Amino acid sequence: MTASERFVERMHRATSEAATRGIDALLVAPSPDLAYLCGYGPMPLERLTLLVLRPGSDPVMVVPELERPLAAASPAGSTLDLVPWSDGADPYAAAAGFVPAEGVVAASDRMWASHLLGLQAERPAARFTPGGPVIARLRSVKDEDELAALRRAGRAADETFRQICQLPFQGRREEEVAADLARLLVENGHHTADFTIVASGPNSASPHHEPGGRTILPRDAVVLDFGGELAGYFSDTSRTVVVGEPPEGFAETYDLVREAQDAGVQAVRPGVPAGEVDRAARSVIEAAGQGDRFIHRTGHGIGLEVHEPPYLVAGDETPLEVGTTFSVEPGIYLEGRFGVRIEDIVAVGPDGADRLNRSTRELQTVS
Ligand code: ZN
Ligand code: ZN
Ligand code: ZN
Repeated sequence: MTASERFVERMHRATSEAATRGIDALLVAPSPDLAYLCGYGPMPLERLTLLVLRPGSDPVMVVPELERPLAAASPAGSTLDLVPWSDGADPYAAAAGFVPAEGVVAASDRMWASHLLGLQAERPAARFTPGGPVIARLRSVKDEDELAALRRAGRAADETFRQICQLPFQGRREEEVAADLARLLVENGHHTADFTIVASGPNSASPHHEPGGRTILPRDAVVLDFGGELAGYFSDTSRTVVVGEPPEGFAETYDLVREAQDAGVQAVRPGVPAGEVDRAARSVIEAAGQGDRFIHRTGHGIGLEVHEPPYLVAGDETPLEVGTTFSVEPGIYLEGRFGVRIEDIVAVGPDGADRLNRSTRELQTVS
């Protein structure tokens, strides 16, 4: 399948999904959704760029005149009906011609409010609805090429973890270790290093701690949570290490998180509701009386974005499908003391989870 054919097929599937949901027009603004559907990734700027997918019609893209050549040269550009508008003209009037006056209009999640309001003003009798869920289901099930990219990103992140464990922690600032993580992610093949959480000592009890000037001390627990983009797809993994002897009470907490993470991964099977993975991981921590210290959902989908549907959260009934990729990352956070998180990306296989991260889950001691 050529790149162009792949995108034509994706747009076709999104249009069918829209039809199934009774949607007359699906409007997609510059975003990972747009890149996924047609391979075109312009900056999400103030000038209106809008892909319009309508059941029974060919895809149309409204583009600023100055970006028409870029849109035309994009992978699916030759298959799109490009509708340019020039600076000074009303882009909403231009787009309105492709939006039914009455009917259901779905707007993608990442659309400037000014664009959505402009379109709504042109089509006051239409019913606007979120377009995110229409595209989310397509994006969450990865094809072979997408899985290969995610696997490569996972391996590069694993190698980064192996190497960081060999570097000194004690006496260095969190931000210095974070800089090492970023460098290693790129050396191991990532295009960009997008996040490098290094949370040491009491800071490890804050899940999204920003690495700062704290100097890492002996007996610190250190949560490392890092990832970046490789071939358009993201890695995201966490491990918790200790500097020399673990702090008081740490070993038990670590074992519990490790057991919870295993339980979450074991619960992964096609057809299982996403919320079931959360329940499996959480029940291990709850049974040990630490339920109130696990203060976030168990995981999130990953692909063209670090966080994307499905979300592994209590009550989510979305059935897992073969090819869906997401994180399993339970944690326990004891304020003022330490935190523990273990995170792997998994892909749903026909018989269960396939871990895309294979770093050891044995507690690692660093120097
Ligand atoms: Zn997070
Ligand atoms: Zn993470
Ligand atoms: Zn994550």
